[in-house]
Amino acid sequence: MIDVALLGTGGMMPLPNRFLTSLLVRKKGRMMLIDCGEGTQVTMKMLGWGFKSIDLICFTHFHADHISGLPGLLLTIGNADRTEPLTLAGPKGLEKIVEGLRLIAPELPFELKYKEYENETEEFSVSSFDIKVLKVDHNVTCYGYSLEIPRSGMFMPEKAEALGIPRPCWSLLQKGETVEIDGKNYTWDMVLGEPRKGIKLCYCTDTRPTPDMPAFFKGADLLIYEGIYGENEKLDKAVLHKHSLYREAAETAKAAEVKELWLTHYSPALTDPNEFIQNARDIFPNTVAGEDRMTRTIKFPERGM
Ligand SMILES: [Zn+2]
Ligand SMILES: [Zn+2]
Repeated sequence: MIDVALLGTGGMMPLPNRFLTSLLVRKKGRMMLIDCGEGTQVTMKMLGWGFKSIDLICFTHFHADHISGLPGLLLTIGNADRTEPLTLAGPKGLEKIVEGLRLIAPELPFELKYKEYENETEEFSVSSFDIKVLKVDHNVTCYGYSLEIPRSGMFMPEKAEALGIPRPCWSLLQKGETVEIDGKNYTWDMVLGEPRKGIKLCYCTDTRPTPDMPAFFKGADLLIYEGIYGENEKLDKAVLHKHSLYREAAETAKAAEVKELWLTHYSPALTDPNEFIQNARDIFPNTVAGEDRMTRTIKFPERGM
């Protein structure tokens, strides 16, 4: 199970009632953040999930509306008495940029670790977060994200019986212990069925749609994707600045067969994000105009699907 909070939904500049795009994810009490523009810590404070347990901060790219809130947030995390290391992940050049920002946040009671992406796609894990990234198409190097929580298969008593594992040993296997019978070792994974569907959450902003996206976002429970303009007529502007329209977000969601789409990263000129929502819903009906601090708990499907 994970809890998702879309901290902000603004692009370019924060507005009085709209913070800059950023996503907070919580899993078993630990948290990760994607993007941290100016004011992110204010909306985090309003949400009330705390600061101390953030183990990972990822960046899509290095435009100010996605990173300029970092030094203040690091200081706040430090004031929350964090001492464990914190990992920062993003495109190449991350460490140099953050070390520049650190000039105004020099004393932190925890170590910063860096993960810079070198390739079009990468996979890495921090804390219990398993992350995949995909290079997308913005006017600076930019990446989309996928967070997946796999789920193992169900226990199959018939498998255990077929292997001749006595019933009293089943609970030992379940605890992760290895059981030895007649010189052969048995482990929990040997008595499980096929892996079941897990959880998949994707986040992608500041990009044109790309051909790699449908496979990368495939089957996500929730895709959070930018919709800088709602009007279909603003395609030329979106192409010029390398962003996506509502309609293009919906086309991407449809092609990837995701379950639900939340729009985010609205232009400051878009005062009511719901005004043009039909342009997306005509293509992908399960589209929601994201709002600041919108939250969702995503659970494993019931009954072992
Ligand atoms: Zn942006
Ligand atoms: Zn940008």
